[in-house]
Amino acid sequence: MIVMKFGGSSVADSARIRNVADIVRKSRGKNPAVVVSALGGTTDMLIKIAKLSPKKRHEAEMQKLREKHLKVIRELGIRESVISGELEGLERLTRMVNSLTPKISDHIASFGERMSARIVAGYMSSIGMKAKAFDAYEIGMVTDSNFGFADVLPETYSNVKRSLPRNCIPVITGFIGKDRRGEITTIGRGGSDYTASIIGAAIGAEEIQIWTNVNGIMSADPRIVKSAHNIRDMSYEEESELEFLGSPTLHLKGIIPAVENKITVRILNTLNPGQRGTVITQNIDAGRRVASITHKEKMCIINIYNPGLLFEKNVSGSLSEALQRHKVSAEIISISKSNVMILLNEIQNKDISGVAKELKGMGSVEIKHRLAKVSIVGKSVAAIPGISQRMLSAVRSMPVEATLCSGSKTSQSFIVKERDAKGAVRLLHKEFFGA
Ligand code: ASP
Ligand code: MG
Repeated sequence: MIVMKFGGSSVADSARIRNVADIVRKSRGKNPAVVVSALGGTTDMLIKIAKLSPKKRHEAEMQKLREKHLKVIRELGIRESVISGELEGLERLTRMVNSLTPKISDHIASFGERMSARIVAGYMSSIGMKAKAFDAYEIGMVTDSNFGFADVLPETYSNVKRSLPRNCIPVITGFIGKDRRGEITTIGRGGSDYTASIIGAAIGAEEIQIWTNVNGIMSADPRIVKSAHNIRDMSYEEESELEFLGSPTLHLKGIIPAVENKITVRILNTLNPGQRGTVITQNIDAGRRVASITHKEKMCIINIYNPGLLFEKNVSGSLSEALQRHKVSAEIISISKSNVMILLNEIQNKDISGVAKELKGMGSVEIKHRLAKVSIVGKSVAAIPGISQRMLSAVRSMPVEATLCSGSKTSQSFIVKERDAKGAVRLLHKEFFGA
């Protein structure tokens, strides 16, 4: 069996859904289980509806949502009744609730995937494929009750293994589950990859295919580097390092169940289905290499200077306590004789003013905003002789704010001003790939 996951843009309209059906049909010999996201843009609309006050909630927004789905249904030539239960349920729910809780927000958001699974399965059946829609909880997806970011509970694996139907093509909702009390939950934005990975692990799939709108994972963001190329093979480690350092192709937790069960993940393009895509496995044939160049914006450095730092007791202890108290998580803390450097991401840590104030007790504090971390990622890249020199000399035309030493063998990074980051990516791509 294989798992084929199609994201929101792959099921965004009727033409794309026909295309998805075609792709699945060509794989029918491999017994596919299909996982779908909501039609592109739907989850954002649903979350907006959930946030509106109950009185304002429906009319305009609900109308837009209904029309979006019914238009696709009409164009596909299937019956509107495939989603009438969901549309009614959603309307009833939005009319009924008076105050928004995370639980209600999840319940409302769940309708996106519930409608798309029914539309996709409905269309497949209408063209003679034996498909059937399932809500993930019907086949045993159980989570904790952390609404909005629910974690999948271990019994899910045996449940799914037992309940996944084998006599049809199941089209399963990504992103949602139910807690042990039977309340609907969601597992975090972009979570359908994670659903696919869990189902793949549960049934011991041969392969988990993540169908997107790019030709797999690239040597750089093609919007930045025109000559960026597709990476044929990657290790799990390279992939997750790349995610962390700024190129989120998959949901962060997306491949963990696959890694744990050593299942190959393949990233493919629905608009270019003949392509091989990128294959992510445990072991790849490459020796040491640079695989991809990436960058992450909104980085910030807090520098603390104190000539007597060396003589203070337990600097690292007080630092971590201060960070913890202000719920700030640092990517790197480096302590030297008279200086502490804290590197953090300002998307993850929206307000650092509190911690900055507290750190003044340790010395004079300087904060640099609007920085970017530029990284090269690849198997054992840090062990390539002279790699940092080569990297830094490629960007010698721009000021480097800090060079970083991380424990990872799979990447090397430095910090520049945000406005220099894309230029740095281009220079490094040229240095390592010749264009
Ligand atoms: N529909 C959800 C979202 O937009 C889940 C997903 O697309 O993976 O976040
Ligand atoms: Mg996605």
